[in-house]
Amino acid sequence: MSNKHQHSFQAEVAQLLHLVTHSLYSNKEIFLRELISNASDACDKLRFEALNDPALYEDQPNLEVRVSFDKAARTLTITDNGIGMSQQEAIEHLGTIAKSGTKDFMSRLSGDQKASATEQGQLIGQFGVGFYSGFIVADRITVESRRAGLPASEGVRWASSGAGEFEVEQIQREQRGTSVILHLREDAEEFLNAWKIKQIIGKYSDHISLPILMEKEEWKESEKEGEPGEMVKTGEWETVNKASALWTRPKKDITDEQYQDFYKTISHDHENPLAWSHNRVEGNTEYTQLLYIPAKAPFDLWNRDKAAGVKLYVKRVFIMDDAEALMPGYLRFVKGVIDSSDLPLNVSRELLQESRDVRLIRDGSTKRVLSMLEDLARHDKHEAGTQDADVQDVVSEEDKAKEGKYSQFWAEFGAVLKEGLGEDFSNRERIAKLLRFASTSSDTASVSLQDYKARMKEGQEAIYYITADTLAAARNSPQLEIFKKKGIEVLLMTDRVDEWALGYLNDFDGTPLQSVAKGAVDLGKLQDEAEKKAAEDAAEAFKPLLAKLKEALKDKAEDVRATTRLVDSPACLVVQDHGMSTQLARLLKQAGQ
Ligand code: ADP
Ligand code: MG
Repeated sequence: MSNKHQHSFQAEVAQLLHLVTHSLYSNKEIFLRELISNASDACDKLRFEALNDPALYEDQPNLEVRVSFDKAARTLTITDNGIGMSQQEAIEHLGTIAKSGTKDFMSRLSGDQKASATEQGQLIGQFGVGFYSGFIVADRITVESRRAGLPASEGVRWASSGAGEFEVEQIQREQRGTSVILHLREDAEEFLNAWKIKQIIGKYSDHISLPILMEKEEWKESEKEGEPGEMVKTGEWETVNKASALWTRPKKDITDEQYQDFYKTISHDHENPLAWSHNRVEGNTEYTQLLYIPAKAPFDLWNRDKAAGVKLYVKRVFIMDDAEALMPGYLRFVKGVIDSSDLPLNVSRELLQESRDVRLIRDGSTKRVLSMLEDLARHDKHEAGTQDADVQDVVSEEDKAKEGKYSQFWAEFGAVLKEGLGEDFSNRERIAKLLRFASTSSDTASVSLQDYKARMKEGQEAIYYITADTLAAARNSPQLEIFKKKGIEVLLMTDRVDEWALGYLNDFDGTPLQSVAKGAVDLGKLQDEAEKKAAEDAAEAFKPLLAKLKEALKDKAEDVRATTRLVDSPACLVVQDHGMSTQLARLLKQAGQ
């Protein structure tokens, strides 16, 4: 008796299959990620069901995925010993689109703004199309499966060439779980290669916590003289992925060394990171974050478009490493992994970027990085003096290890962090507290705005700063003379971003920031009556001279004024209150504007 039955795919599936086979060309290899992730899901499901029914494990309690290929038959097979499928489940799950993500995707494609073929290709490439992605490389797929708990006689074989129909028959299958057998297209023979398969697994599935096994091969010389040898299978299986999603393990089970090794594998940095933070976030959206701050800036730190350092996983399957979606630009130096248990696997980058969950993850991760930095800053030796006395009494080994790290961080990444003032309004105050500057009373960039405020002179109403190309130029600027004379500290800013970034910080903790190069510096209460009087008298006395100078410089200077800000120098250039500073003007000129 034949028990083969023909079925038609649901209309959307047929449409999707057509798309898959015609437009996913540029990103063929994702099929393996999809099939391995299904195998991993099937094992997760078995683990879950077995909680109530341990007998489901039968005699195979160790869950695993095996990937094998047969060059002669041109097949690639992915086998798992997970939950498996009954005949009915195979028909339903492999013949219809049940997932809302894919449904949305399909409706977008067939909606009003019909995408062109290339756009479809791009769209679909970014989606995980799940099981059907097998048809990118296969002209026929056979699935053999037996659901855990069903007898061996109730196995199922599902087969399709992806052209609108599939057939299903009952088979005898001893092994629990599923084998997906891909009959590779002629142009997909590259996947009949152990090295190639391992490379793809390494790229997408290294952190699947399930072991992925492949049969070992060894080189065998040909027995016939003069013919080349070949790789032959040895019958021995080896695990080819790391099989450990470090971030899913409890913190207490992970050593510093393991954290550091993991950092090196994801960052391609050979140095240890400066700090890391590993948390499970619960609430509106649940995710695990493992974020690292590197010790050294990479050479391409200033390239805002470079590949991002934070990778998004959904249930341990790599999804994307889109920079802006996961971390704001000013934290682009952060490396790490975010693993969400809520996001759907099959969703496009575009949808992900718009997703509320991703936004929450981004906000949460931003705050986490800022806390990490605050923690380092708190333990930096420069701030030891500002700590509470009772906190200082107990300096743990851990705290000691953090000493000096913030200075190091600042030297490497401070200029990038400053961009946050203009980029992230919601965290501006926290960022402002993390800023460090050199000043007229500190040679190193170690003065925080809090430090500055704490040292302000009686009656001083503003935080004064000067921008220049170099520290020496800043220090020797004639504009500082009056401040030196009065013993007022001035922050010295020499980073290219300072001018722009500080433009976003009108005040710090209620105290305005004021450039000493802008307008007539109002020293407010710091200026005594006698000085004010002298200034006014001088302005009066020099009126005719000033008028002459103004006439002579009329194309070059807006105004010529008498000033009290100079002590030794005869003259200096200043800009109007709301004008561009000379430093910024120079910068823009350099940039050709
Ligand atoms: P998704 O994984 O997002 O559900 P897929 O297209 O990848 O979508 O798979 C469709 C369905 O087919 C799965 O939800 C599952 O029910 C079933 N399936 C696919 N692969 C396997 C497998 N290896 N073992 C058991 N069921 C599977
Ligand atoms: Mg899937």
